[in-house]
Amino acid sequence: MIESTCSLLGAAEDEDREWTMEDYASALARWCPGCGDHAVLSAAQRLLETEQLPPERTVFVSGIGCAARFPHYMKTYGFHGIHGRALPVATGIKLRRPDLHVFVVMGDGDCCSIGAAHWIHATRYNANMVALMLDNGVYGLTKNQTSPTSPKGVPSNTQPRGAFLPPLNPLTATLGVTNASFVAQTADWSPPHLYATLLAAHRHRGFAFVRVLQRCPQYTTHLYDPAVKDSSLIELLVHPNGVVVPELDRLYKNQVKHDPADLAAARRLAEPDGKIRLGVLYRDETLPVYEETRAVPPRSGAEKLALLNTELDRYAV
Ligand code: SF4
Repeated sequence: MIESTCSLLGAAEDEDREWTMEDYASALARWCPGCGDHAVLSAAQRLLETEQLPPERTVFVSGIGCAARFPHYMKTYGFHGIHGRALPVATGIKLRRPDLHVFVVMGDGDCCSIGAAHWIHATRYNANMVALMLDNGVYGLTKNQTSPTSPKGVPSNTQPRGAFLPPLNPLTATLGVTNASFVAQTADWSPPHLYATLLAAHRHRGFAFVRVLQRCPQYTTHLYDPAVKDSSLIELLVHPNGVVVPELDRLYKNQVKHDPADLAAARRLAEPDGKIRLGVLYRDETLPVYEETRAVPPRSGAEKLALLNTELDRYAV
């Protein structure tokens, strides 16, 4: 855990206080100027303030990559793990401490490559947490390597003649997993939409997977620049059960009513067709949640001892 237990326990003593964004801010973020990660950090801190999440009951978990610096910049508990393993760590935390608010921050390489198996199973487990996948289409920390979501033909240090394969689609992949309960897409350059999506994800009961289209001005500026400069390339998915951001009505004229309960429509909308869609594609709060299916009734010390003795007696000779 990154944050010192003493400082967070000190915070916990003052239960009546009101948390402000400053209370959640830790070290100065060292991402490149203009990096989309800064916007995601601000949105996350704003979310915690809105929801008044106590820092001592909030955990940010990450793997490896630029985005994985996230827990260092939050004044909550944090776990900066190893590459691709953020989700099993977070699932373990949630299983043992379902009372905690758990957030996972991954990059596209972290989640969709080395962490792909964990991503699929975490989606199926449907533990109640928010998983943010910051997708910049490149391994940025290791200086411009092709990632699973790099568009075909885009050159990098590892594939200088251009990516050989078409990119993996994180939305269709997640929507294809049994028990997937929340899938959304937002963008770092639209702070109101980003914040509203994070809020919806946090309030969702179950595993909320959010793909954040994230600008990397260092290596993949070209990726989202057209959509940043021309709002007509964006299509907003709007529905009361998704996210509705009235202040974006004037900017984004292309809006489509999409009921997130419709899985078949969500899968169609997730297919690449040249449009960048922002919104909640799918949401179902009736699906089984991992920590609830595995809930163990609380037991006293004497009861635990009796159970242990019963178990050991099976091996008595
Ligand atoms: Fe952000 Fe790219 Fe810099 Fe990494 S390399 S901090 S993703 S701009």
